Amino acid sequence: MNTTFNPVIFCDFDGTITMKDNIINIMAKFAPEGWEAIKDDILAQRVSIQKGVSELFSLLPTTQKEEIMSFVLEDAKIREGFGEFVQFTREQNIPLYIVSGGIDFFVHPMLEPFGPFDRIYCNEGDFSGEQIQIRYPYDCDEHCTNQGCGCCKPSIIRQYTDEQQTSIIIGDSITDLEAAKLADIVIARDFLIEKCEELNIPYSPFTNFHDCIRIIENRLNVQI
Ligand code: MG
Ligand code: ZN
Repeated sequence: MNTTFNPVIFCDFDGTITMKDNIINIMAKFAPEGWEAIKDDILAQRVSIQKGVSELFSLLPTTQKEEIMSFVLEDAKIREGFGEFVQFTREQNIPLYIVSGGIDFFVHPMLEPFGPFDRIYCNEGDFSGEQIQIRYPYDCDEHCTNQGCGCCKPSIIRQYTDEQQTSIIIGDSITDLEAAKLADIVIARDFLIEKCEELNIPYSPFTNFHDCIRIIENRLNVQI
């Protein structure tokens, strides 16, 4: 009997907790023409996430701060079952870390009704200059083979898990790929599924957070 199943969850924000990617939504609404080429470069891994995200936000003047903030808070929808999922992790005493390539000015207010969380890792918006600048407090450690992750999910996983623990990552896109390579259990949707298939990374698909509860519950039951 294995009694050592000791899960820790690392959950992405944009396109995972929220239905859509908020950075993409902000750019589609506010950025001048040409932003899509930067997005395509990020997805095709021709440019690092960190460099690409900085370039995208540098297209936006800081005078639009209020407008951008109210747009993103009104526009974003939380994926079904997220509240129940947070409750489930609390009941099961499973640490739930939010790891996001998103920016603090929308990540924190959107998560607030569901909190408090064990930790929220994300990038930071700096509105002190003429254009929006992004700061990356959770940059890659020296073990990250990718470098330029922005918010480096594998570095965070390395810092907050040991070999006694089972790391579970939940995500949807390119920012979750390096974490998916490292995690014990991957719960994926959308583009992350394509990448997992391409790279033969085992995963469980999800469309909402009821699926995530079921997938983790199944793993908990296997251990009894
Ligand atoms: Mg995402
Ligand atoms: Zn990294």
